[in-house]
Amino acid sequence: MAEVLVKDISKIYDGGIKAVDKANIEIKDQEFVVLVGPSGCGKSTTLRMIAGLEDITSGELYIDGKLMNNEAPKDRDIAMVFQNYALYPHMTVYENMAFGLRIRKFPKDKIDARVREAAQILDIEELLDRKPKALSGGQRQRVAVGRAIVRKPKVFLFDEPLSNLDAKLRVQMRAEISSLHSRLNATMVYVTHDQVEAMTMGDKIVVMKSGIIQQIGSPLKLYNDPINRFVAGFMGTPPMNIGVADVVEEGGKLMAKEEGMTVVIPKGREEKLRAYRGKKILLGVRSENLTFTKTPTENNLRASITVIEPLGNETHLYIETKENQYIARALPMHEFNVGDEVNFTPNVDKIQFFDLETEKSLFYTE
Ligand code: ADP
Repeated sequence: MAEVLVKDISKIYDGGIKAVDKANIEIKDQEFVVLVGPSGCGKSTTLRMIAGLEDITSGELYIDGKLMNNEAPKDRDIAMVFQNYALYPHMTVYENMAFGLRIRKFPKDKIDARVREAAQILDIEELLDRKPKALSGGQRQRVAVGRAIVRKPKVFLFDEPLSNLDAKLRVQMRAEISSLHSRLNATMVYVTHDQVEAMTMGDKIVVMKSGIIQQIGSPLKLYNDPINRFVAGFMGTPPMNIGVADVVEEGGKLMAKEEGMTVVIPKGREEKLRAYRGKKILLGVRSENLTFTKTPTENNLRASITVIEPLGNETHLYIETKENQYIARALPMHEFNVGDEVNFTPNVDKIQFFDLETEKSLFYTE
């Protein structure tokens, strides 16, 4: 069992910088929780407070029901994997992995068994006698993870562990850490600024901005039902298109309109949106919910192409109306030229609406 409860935790650094503001996160036993957000949003500080590497200014941290605020890092039964691996250069892989157990005065045979078991799990048995400088980036990363595994901690903490790897290796290590999570049945908290890592690895994702948690949910909940404009734009590639539209009533139909787009509001959503008649609103539509069409339909987006990105399996089109810019996807069989005027049918049931002032989603459900 290893549950972590972050309760109303704040961190104010010297000089009054509020890095984390009343964070509440419930991390269940064996859960893989990812803290994600842009640089400086407070995710590392949150992780470091869980680890005990930063003092908690206010709030409470519990691990398995025990208050940890004043416990030293070594007494928290956690292991942390850092971005820069922090391996000892003069020690072999074996010694690097054994070190944490040695200083905890584990018997030699137990250390040996744990190091070999971890090496086997990570497929680095043949590297045990090497020094870190004789390892590739991916191998070093595995050793850093191995050093955490041998401790059999209650909770693994990862601080941007893949940032120093090239794109291909990152994808591979991502899958390795996910598979490790299921094999070890461990509780893991993982910090990254990369929303793709968050989406692909997390059971639960915590999105932060400017020290404040914006939304906590499963990857698909965040993708399909973002609480506000920030989460909508941060999660997903390409990001959700967000345009400004006018809410109008014409011929008995309630619509959201901008110069190039007309969307008839579906019945179930009329009530809330009627309050916005005569006002502007933010309209969010993911690129996969824009379908290329040769002839305009009732719900339509008409815009001109500014950039074409052929990716092989699909083509991304950067398109713009007078008021807004969007990214759309089309199948590669269609031929486009920059400057073409194109029509897309938005899937109105998937469109998100955000208040222009508060930027909150109008139809978000807990
Ligand atoms: P992230 O991990 O999301 O990039 P951090 O948690 O590292 O963000 O930082 C959050 C905020 O706290 C930032 O504004 C950062 O400049 C500030 N900060 C981080 N560490 C310190 C420190 N030791 N002293 C003062 N401010 C800090």
